Amino acid sequence: MTAKIIDGRAIATQIRTDLQQKILLLSTKPKLAIILVGNDDSSLIYVRNKQKAAAQIGMKTQLYHLEENTKETDLLQLIRQCNDDSSVNGIIVQLPLPEHINTNRVINAISPLKDVDGFNPYNTGMLQNNEKPYFIAATPLGIMTLIESVCSDLCGKNVVIIGASLIVGRPLATLLLNQECTVTITHIHTRDIKELTRKADILVAACGVAGLVKNDWIKTDSILIDVGINREKGKICGDIDFESVAASAAAITPVPGGVGPMTIAMLLQNTVDAYFLQHNL
Ligand code: NAD
Repeated sequence: MTAKIIDGRAIATQIRTDLQQKILLLSTKPKLAIILVGNDDSSLIYVRNKQKAAAQIGMKTQLYHLEENTKETDLLQLIRQCNDDSSVNGIIVQLPLPEHINTNRVINAISPLKDVDGFNPYNTGMLQNNEKPYFIAATPLGIMTLIESVCSDLCGKNVVIIGASLIVGRPLATLLLNQECTVTITHIHTRDIKELTRKADILVAACGVAGLVKNDWIKTDSILIDVGINREKGKICGDIDFESVAASAAAITPVPGGVGPMTIAMLLQNTVDAYFLQHNL
C-alpha cells in the first residue's frame, strides 16, 4: 500500500466546523428548504442526513414532504413560495422526482440565487461560460476540493472521468477544464475505455459499477477519486477496486469516507454562501 488516502471525512469535518463558527456569529440563522416528493427509500435517508448535518452546525431546515401523487403545478407553486420567502436562503428538491413530474421544469423554477444544488440552467450556464455561478453542484465542488488537497497545480493535467451524468461527470469536467486540465469524459458506450484511463494523471470514477476500475486501468502514481456508492453483500463499496490499485496509485479516496462526506459539507457551504449573498454580506 503506497497510495496516500485522501481523507474526505476529515476535510469535510473541518469545513463543517468552520461553517458552524460562522453561523454562531449571525443574529439570524441560514435556512434550507428541502422538498421531497414521495417516499423513495434512498431519498428519505439522504434527506434525513442533510437535516441532521444542518442541525449540527446550527442551520435551520424546513422539510416539505409531499405526497407521491402531488401535481407538478402544486410543486411549482411551493417553489415560488420558497423563492419569495426571505427567511429561506436555499432550496433543494430531492431527486429523483416521480415520473409524472418534469424535473427540468421544477429545477428551472428555483431562483438561481437560492439554487444551492447548483442545477438551475443559469448556474450551470455560468459555469460553462467560465464565469462565476452563484452555486456549483455539491458533489463536483467537493471532488475539486479533494483533488486540490493533493495536487496544487492542475494546469495541463490529463483527467479522465468515468460517467457523464448531469450531477457529477459533466459539471466536474467543466470545473476541471476551467482549471486548464485536458479532460476526457467516458460513459457506457465509450470504446477501449482502459486505453483512456491508463493515460490519466487524475482518474475520477462516477459510474455506479462496483469495483470496475482495477490496477490495469490506471497509470502508476495517478490520483484516483472514487465517487461510486454501491451496496455489495451488505457493504458499501466504490467504483474502484481499492485493494487492486492501492500499491500503484499516488493518492486515492476511500469509500466510504471520501467523496460522500464532502457532498453534504458543500451543500451546507452553499447554503451559508446563499445567506451571505442574500444579506449582501
Ligand atoms: P448516473 O446513473 O446518472 O450516470 C452514470 C454514468 O456512468 C453514465 O454516464 C453511464 O453511461 C456511465 N456508466 C455506467 N456504467 C458504465 C461502465 N460500465 N463504463 C463506463 N461508464 C459507465 O449516475 P450518477 O448519479 O452520476 O452516480 C454515479 C455513482 O456515483 C453512483 O454510484 C452514485 O451512487 C454515486 N454518487 C455519489 C455521490 C456522493 O456524494 N458520493 C453523489 C452522486 C452520485
